[in-house]
Amino acid sequence: MAAGRDRDELTLVVVTKFFPASDIALLAELGVRDIGESRDQEAAAKLAALPPALRQRLAVHFVGQVQTRKAGSVARYADAVHSVDRARLVAALSRGAAAAGRRLDVLVQVDLDPQVRTSQRGGVPAEQAAALADLVVATADGLRLRGVMAVAPLSADPHAAFAALHEVATGIQAKHVEAAWISAGMSADLEAAVAHGATHLRVGTAILGSRPPHR
Ligand SMILES: *Cc1c(COP(=O)(O)O)cnc(C)c1O
Repeated sequence: MAAGRDRDELTLVVVTKFFPASDIALLAELGVRDIGESRDQEAAAKLAALPPALRQRLAVHFVGQVQTRKAGSVARYADAVHSVDRARLVAALSRGAAAAGRRLDVLVQVDLDPQVRTSQRGGVPAEQAAALADLVVATADGLRLRGVMAVAPLSADPHAAFAALHEVATGIQAKHVEAAWISAGMSADLEAAVAHGATHLRVGTAILGSRPPHR
């Protein structure tokens, strides 16, 4: 690859939000193992509609904002939650995972916008990410800290943003060796993400085309 990275260091998460369960089934038949969803109700309904044998082969990554009251639901079907950005959500997801008899992989979402906090997209400021990671490890039996996630700010250079994310990731991993995932890169900024150490790419449009209209 151009960035000198090995293919097997990278996991491609195909983001299937707004696409029907039948498309997820097709992707699974084509060998896709990791899918991403961003809305609880939609994800739960679609996953329930899949044939069980096929559903079992999929790892489900929840990449959208999680409302605290939806944490119990998300914990029942997600294998990984990329968008952990507050202490209350850590507690709610951990409780939900325990209630479901599961353990969830989680990533701390970092807000990389240097200007305004992009609060509707979520994330903790970079300087608070390590403390939230410590909290997951210290208090959340139902969760396994796996690393960090970010969405590149719309207004800034993705290279600068992903370089900053890499620095946050390195600091957290120095304390927590299992936290080696860096979820970064969407259709528009994949190459920048790979150049800055992304391990998980979350790609929708570049694979599936434009999303069907939001219902
Ligand atoms: C929708 C979404 C993606 C995929 O975006 P594309 O531009 O379609 O590749 C990735 N990450 C998150 C958090 C998303 O909500």
